[in-house]
Amino acid sequence: MKNIYNMTIEELEEYFLSIEEKKFKAIQTYSWLYEKRIKSFDEMSDMKKTVIEKLKNTFSLDRLKLIKVERDTLVNKYLFELYDGSLVESVLMRHDYGTSICVSSQVGCNMGCKFCESGRLKKVRNLNTYEMVLQIFAVEEDIKERITHVVIMGIGEPFDNYLNVTNFIKVINHPKGLSIGSRHITVSTCGIVPKILEFADFPYQVNLAISLHAPNDEIRNKIMPINKVYKIKDIMDALKKYYKKTNRRITFEYILLDGINDSDENALELCAILKGLNCYVNLIPYNETNNIQYKRSKNDRILKFYDIIKKNNVGVTIRREFGSNISAACGQLRSKKEEL
Ligand code: SF4
Repeated sequence: MKNIYNMTIEELEEYFLSIEEKKFKAIQTYSWLYEKRIKSFDEMSDMKKTVIEKLKNTFSLDRLKLIKVERDTLVNKYLFELYDGSLVESVLMRHDYGTSICVSSQVGCNMGCKFCESGRLKKVRNLNTYEMVLQIFAVEEDIKERITHVVIMGIGEPFDNYLNVTNFIKVINHPKGLSIGSRHITVSTCGIVPKILEFADFPYQVNLAISLHAPNDEIRNKIMPINKVYKIKDIMDALKKYYKKTNRRITFEYILLDGINDSDENALELCAILKGLNCYVNLIPYNETNNIQYKRSKNDRILKFYDIIKKNNVGVTIRREFGSNISAACGQLRSKKEEL
């Protein structure tokens, strides 16, 4: 049985047409699902009994099973069990501009980034659209507030699950869905070039972030195996085309790893490759884990790196550190559970 939260509005319209009902019933159904948050199809009081029976026989309303929550002042971390027993995580972050959630898009990940806890588990499968939508549902119900921003940057490479991720964006962006503004949605990729080009034609004004983490191929090859397939120059060429089509500013994520990618020369190299691109750099102090050798750059190094980028007129921020007291690095909560 299909989970109804998997359905985009267009798919639901097609469904209603296929059972010889008017397609506006799709909008009505979205209201019941996303505004009224029904637990049973029987609650749909403006729907005929015969239609309700058909919905019941076709779709489930199943939610994710919440296994564990770790809470800190500004961050909560959630562990969910999926229908097949797989575990995924979401992270809620509180900002002065609202609440954001970092959503997982796959069980495990095949990209194998050396600094990443999630990458230690190979991809088991892609998440379905509904399994991403329901991460948001569960967190909103836990905090009793609406989520204002979504980043698809949890476990998994979103562009390795392109169709489900783009359908997820359609569902959460729809005014009768979760109604999260497209400019408040960010997809983060490690640089799958053909999908960056395809995403340039995706007709939603969502943000694109590139997990770059290195200023040259030599370093990137060592810490991100995907770089052996798509070199930095390939990514930059694709981004120039992406920008030409979308006119949207690009974010570069850069995790600072002590002695690996954080020298003054590295900062200058980074500025050189970003020259002429409408972008900004998000510097991320590394969240150390017991399982991985890399260390967080020292504070004075982080500030020096930041200064060099700023002096070279590239927009730059240092990401506030969230949840170093809890297992906030992507994949940590799941790996702790699996070690139990
Ligand atoms: S950083 Fe992202 S792409 Fe790389 S292994 Fe981790 S989850 Fe996968």
